[in-house]
Amino acid sequence: MSLIVQKYGGTSVSDISRMMHVARKIKATQNAGHSVVVVVSAMGHETDRLDDLAHQIMDNPTPRELDVLLATGEQVSIALLCMALHSMGCPARSYTGAQVAIRTNSVHTKSRIEHIDDEKIRADLAQGMVVVVAGFQGIDAAGNTTTLGRGGSDTTAVALAAALKADECQIYTDVDGVYTTDPRMVSDARRMPRVTFDEMLELSSLGAQVLQIRAVEFAGKYNVPLRVLSTFKEGSGTLITFDEKSMEQPIVSGIAFSREEAKLIIRGVPDKPGIAGQILGPISDANIEVDMIVQILGDDGNTDFAFTVHRRDYEQAFAILREVNDELGAGGVLGDAKIAKVSLVGVGMRSHAGIASTMFKVLGAEGINIQLVATSEIKVSVLVDEKYLELGVRALHEAFRLHEDPYEEEAERRRLRA
Ligand code: ADP
Ligand code: ASP
Ligand code: MG
Repeated sequence: MSLIVQKYGGTSVSDISRMMHVARKIKATQNAGHSVVVVVSAMGHETDRLDDLAHQIMDNPTPRELDVLLATGEQVSIALLCMALHSMGCPARSYTGAQVAIRTNSVHTKSRIEHIDDEKIRADLAQGMVVVVAGFQGIDAAGNTTTLGRGGSDTTAVALAAALKADECQIYTDVDGVYTTDPRMVSDARRMPRVTFDEMLELSSLGAQVLQIRAVEFAGKYNVPLRVLSTFKEGSGTLITFDEKSMEQPIVSGIAFSREEAKLIIRGVPDKPGIAGQILGPISDANIEVDMIVQILGDDGNTDFAFTVHRRDYEQAFAILREVNDELGAGGVLGDAKIAKVSLVGVGMRSHAGIASTMFKVLGAEGINIQLVATSEIKVSVLVDEKYLELGVRALHEAFRLHEDPYEEEAERRRLRA
C-alpha cells in the first residue's frame, strides 16, 4: 500500500460542487488502496479578499495579525472538504497547521517550515482515515500563527510528503501540468510530460506560478517525487524528475516571466573599492532583496550602478537610495517600477553557446529594448519594459519552437532514417 499526498489549489475548491468533485477524487484514490493525506488551499480568491480587507485598514498591516487573518481561509476549506468526504461515507479528519503541528520560524508572512510532527497523521492513517491538512500555515515556537508566503500550500504538501516519506506528492491545479510557458499568455504553449528538477527550480524562481519555489527546494532536498496534475482533466501531468541523464535535452525547455520587477539606478558614483557595499548595504538592512546588479564604468572614473528589486519594495528602496546619493555626493537617482523580467530556461543550455545572442536578436527584431541581462548555466534573463512583455514572450516561444514536441520530432527523424 502506498502513501500519497494530494494538494488541491484554490480554483479546485472554489465552490461546493468543485469541493464535492475533489472529495470524489480523494475517495477514489483511497478505494484504489492508497493512504491519502490531503493539503488544501483557501477557496478561490479568498486569500486575496482577506488581504484586501487588511489593506483597507492600513498600508502595511501588522504581519502577525495578517497571518492570523490569512490563515482563516484554509481552515474553512479543510472543514468543508472533510464534510464532503463524510457525505460520501469516507472517514476523514481535518487539522490546522498548528494542530499537526507544522512548526515554522517566526518570520511572519514568509515563514519557513522547520519541523513537522507526523504522529497524529500516522495514527489516523492507520485507522483508515483520510487526513486533511490546511495548507500555507504553521505555528512558531511561541505558538503564533504563521503563513508560508503566497502559493505556500504547495510547500505544505511537499514538506508533509517529505516528513511522511510519501510515495508521491501530487499537486492538483487548474492546468494539466507544467507548460513551456504560462498557457494563459501563450495559447500554443505545450505541456511538458517531464521537467528536470533544476529547470523547475529556475522556472519557479523566475516567476512560473504553478509551483511555489520553496516547494521545489523541499522536493530537491528530500528527494520527494513530485507531479503537477489537473483537478478537472484526467492525465499523467508533469513529473519533476531528478533523472537528467535519461532525458533528451532540448536547449530551451521553457520561458518564465515576472511583472513584479522594479529597477533603480544611482548615477555618477565615484568608482572605488567598497562602493557596491555602501550602496547595497542600506538596502539589505531594510530587508529588501536585490536581484540583478550591473555597474557601468563611465569615462570620467565614475560609475552608474543599477539593480532590481521586487516592485512592492520600490518606493522604500528609492528613498534609501536618495539618502545614499546625498552621502556619496553621487549624480542622482533614477528608477522605473514598470519593468518585467523574461527568462529562458533549459538544462541543454549548458552545452550550447549562443542562446543569449539569439534571444537578443529575436527581441531586437520586435523592437524590444533590453535593459539588463543576467545569466547562469541554465538560464538567460532579460529586463524589458512591461508593456512589451507579452510580445517578447510570444516571439521567443515561437522563435525557439517551444510549441513543437522535441521528442516527437526526434521520433519522426528516426522513422524517416529507418
Ligand atoms: P493553485 O491555486 O492551484 O495553486 P496557481 O494559480 O498557483 O494554482 O498556479 C497555476 C497557474 O500557474 C496556472 O493557471 C497558470 O496560469 C500559471 N502558470 C504560470 N506559468 C506556468 C507554466 N509554465 N506551466 C503551467 N502553469 C503556469
Ligand atoms: N491560499 C494561499 C494563497 O492564495 C496559499 C495557496 O493557495 O497556496 O496564496
Ligand atoms: Mg499556487
